[in-house]
Amino acid sequence: ERAAWAAEEIERLTAYDREHVWHPYGPMPAAQENHPVVAAHGVRLVLADGREPIDGMSSWWAAVHGYDHPVLNAAVTDQLGRMAHVMFGGLTHPPAVRLAELLVDLTPEPLTKVFFADSGSVAVEVGIKMALQYHRAQGRPERHRLLTVRGGYHGDTFADMSVCDPVNGMHHLFAGVLPQQVFAPPPPGGYDAEPDGAYLDGLASRVAEHAHEVAAIIAEPVVQGAGGMRFYAPAYLRALRDLADEHGLLLILDEIATGFGRSGAFWGADHAQVVPDIMCVGKALTGGYLTMAATLCTDEVARGISEGEGGGLMHGPTFMANPLAASVAAASLELLTGRDGRGRDWRSEVSAIESALRAGLADTIGLPGVRDTRVLGAIGVIETVEPVDVTAVQKVTMDHGVWLRPFRNLIYTMPPYISTPDEVARITTAMTAAARSL
Ligand code: PLP
Repeated sequence: ERAAWAAEEIERLTAYDREHVWHPYGPMPAAQENHPVVAAHGVRLVLADGREPIDGMSSWWAAVHGYDHPVLNAAVTDQLGRMAHVMFGGLTHPPAVRLAELLVDLTPEPLTKVFFADSGSVAVEVGIKMALQYHRAQGRPERHRLLTVRGGYHGDTFADMSVCDPVNGMHHLFAGVLPQQVFAPPPPGGYDAEPDGAYLDGLASRVAEHAHEVAAIIAEPVVQGAGGMRFYAPAYLRALRDLADEHGLLLILDEIATGFGRSGAFWGADHAQVVPDIMCVGKALTGGYLTMAATLCTDEVARGISEGEGGGLMHGPTFMANPLAASVAAASLELLTGRDGRGRDWRSEVSAIESALRAGLADTIGLPGVRDTRVLGAIGVIETVEPVDVTAVQKVTMDHGVWLRPFRNLIYTMPPYISTPDEVARITTAMTAAARSL
């Protein structure tokens, strides 16, 4: 693989990349070179210089089965022989319908209607539009705001940015022009930190104060991801559900990061036995192969929208329900749930990773540069006292053969579910070395 790329060609490519190609949240030209990846197999990335680090990020939560998986490869190539893409307006196809059946089957019972979006951010936009259209159709157009949770992250498009925590450092630049939403106080910190009576009273009065103008509450269930990798108590999520019911608000749960087993339950909301009215999924949906997400809703929401002005949901992407993505997503869900007959499923994989992360990160607790070490499912987080020098931390972890992408004061991992105990131990050794180097 590497031989296919001459050294000079790689050099030219990285130099061009730096000058001309935007990367996530980066300056142009880039502050430093991005690592060229020429292939990826199993849990490993193959870099042009010959290194093969373990991907401790699963390509940002997505590559749960690792890379170059024979079953997923076959799903794409089989579908490619039939049809790479076709418009979804007025046409349908077996991969989309098959995937919708699987999603309806795997989500809580009232979620029966599926809208296929092309990225997580769009799935959240669609969820927000569903909530606004629903209330408008019910004769409540004044309910046009969202109630969102401090510390949350929901994507980078305009409506999504408005429901992200403005202080998370990503979206405050647009503060004056974003829709103005209502913010609930952040959940008390930690999975085991039950909200007390005073906290719940404060939350309830915040919701009551604004309920007349709010269409929906939106939250990430139990794990707040890019807003700070915080875990919170299931009781907080139950409180949000109860308050939504009390005030006639919809509950949108963003399962884009937490979905498909990552937090140790198949859905993050399963920790709290909470069922949303609208649910957004993405990232691991296609096993990280292709860009696809989905927004599910209840029959009531779907009917409400469809009986209202406009007669339908006002969204329709060109690449909606892409057949290649739908095929690989269906194959990924079968792998995850053990329907392929391998005798393994997400639960055994995630719980083995959880144990390995807990054991492997134990030595970081109490280190001088570390404020907190936490693990939930296949997510391991070291929160540092000071913001980390990302380049320095990445140098340490790459020297240990592990690719991570820390941000702010977070060094964290969400390994592919196929990771062996030895591979997870390599990741935790690298994280521990990074924490010691602070
Ligand atoms: N919602 C959550 C909880 C996420 O973690 C992300 C991505 O990090 C998104 C939404 C946006 O998804 P995408 O990056 O696919 O647009």
